[in-house]
Amino acid sequence: MNTEYSDYTRRLERLLEVCRILSANLEIEPLLQSIIEMASELTNSNASYILIYDEEGACLRHIAGPWYQLEMLQTLAVPLERSILGWVYSHNEPRVVQAGEDHRLYTALKRELGGETVSLLAVPMIFRGTTIGVFAAANKARDYTEEDLTILETLASQAVIAIRNEKWLGQAQAAYEKAMELDRMKRDFIAIVSHELRTPLGVVLGHASLLAETCAPEEKADLDTIVRNALRLREIIQDFADLDKFERGFGKLDLKPVDMSQLVRQTAALFSDLAKDHQVEMLVQAPKTRLMLEGDAEKIAIALRNLIKNAITFTDPGGRVVIGVEAIPGYIKVTVLDTGIGIPQEEQQKIFERFYQVEKHMTRRHGGLGVGLSIAKELIELHGGRIWVESEEGVGSRFLFALPLNRAQAAAAGQVFQTKPAKPGQ
Ligand code: ADP
Repeated sequence: MNTEYSDYTRRLERLLEVCRILSANLEIEPLLQSIIEMASELTNSNASYILIYDEEGACLRHIAGPWYQLEMLQTLAVPLERSILGWVYSHNEPRVVQAGEDHRLYTALKRELGGETVSLLAVPMIFRGTTIGVFAAANKARDYTEEDLTILETLASQAVIAIRNEKWLGQAQAAYEKAMELDRMKRDFIAIVSHELRTPLGVVLGHASLLAETCAPEEKADLDTIVRNALRLREIIQDFADLDKFERGFGKLDLKPVDMSQLVRQTAALFSDLAKDHQVEMLVQAPKTRLMLEGDAEKIAIALRNLIKNAITFTDPGGRVVIGVEAIPGYIKVTVLDTGIGIPQEEQQKIFERFYQVEKHMTRRHGGLGVGLSIAKELIELHGGRIWVESEEGVGSRFLFALPLNRAQAAAAGQVFQTKPAKPGQ
């Protein structure tokens, strides 16, 4: 009794060890081969087999078996009717055939397993309540026991996980490849459209500007509208071109010492006319002293321009935009605050995704492609920095980004920024 007990314990230990090894192995064929070898070893069987239901052929097909038999086995189609393995599959129940039972059974098994089979233990392979195949061990010297059944069922469930993972992996791979293909088509489309629109638009703009200067006074308003809209169109095309540039490797940094105080002041100055047009008061809070970091000034300026432009665009006349820059330990932090329309809580992460806009495209009042923030995010993250927003609908928004002072700090930032950054002022 004691020896039997310790033998079973030893087999369970081996089973656990095997399960651990199996879950680390990713290649499906060697994995299934190891599972059947383990099944043979742990149940003292001569051979083990895995058969999967084939919907097209309405039969079971071998996907794993002894290497010397496998090629032949793969040509076999085991029908569900009048077969022992088919019975296990259809009834969703284990089945045991002990040696010396019934010779008609052996003939059936010989047909199904392709060899001299005198005893068999077979269990259904179940995935989330659905039977997907049969796991079988054959030819044990002694009778199959309850313990053998437990071991076979455990290994069968490991095989099910492996097969399902492989299927999902295949599906995920196919979906990824399709997405990459669509992405490539989208990029090419953007590049072609922005390139092809530029020339005719230049002609329209040139002629309309000329006419606006020389026309009769009563025609001036109409021509100014044409010029204004053509300029807007040019801006959109420029956005497309930037996006295309970005996606084709514009994402490399040219690191040099940058004075962030000066960069913030100069960038904000570009928007004084726009702020006036929108009747929005714009304040810049930048210290007179230098705030130096190692970065790519042009790319930081693009990110900041996108934030300032949004702040002015989404703020009603009479509102305010405040742009601030300050040093915090290891970083320079830039803040663009507005008293505008604000962003609903559930949209605050999505606005950093490409082409995402809070207002629906057909009903929106503001221009833009929905790419400004995604570009800003990529540029800031390229520096090892982080960008985020705090906002309340109807009250306003505060966009913030923090840039590391240098590369060493940027490397450390990888770890710091795995957690949510503290709110400003904290
Ligand atoms: P867009 O070109 O549409 O401005 P962005 O990527 O810059 O694209 O912004 C995405 C969306 O995020 C905007 O369409 C707008 O709905 C919202 N958004 C961005 N900045 C602000 C802001 N300061 N206040 C309110 N909403 C904003």
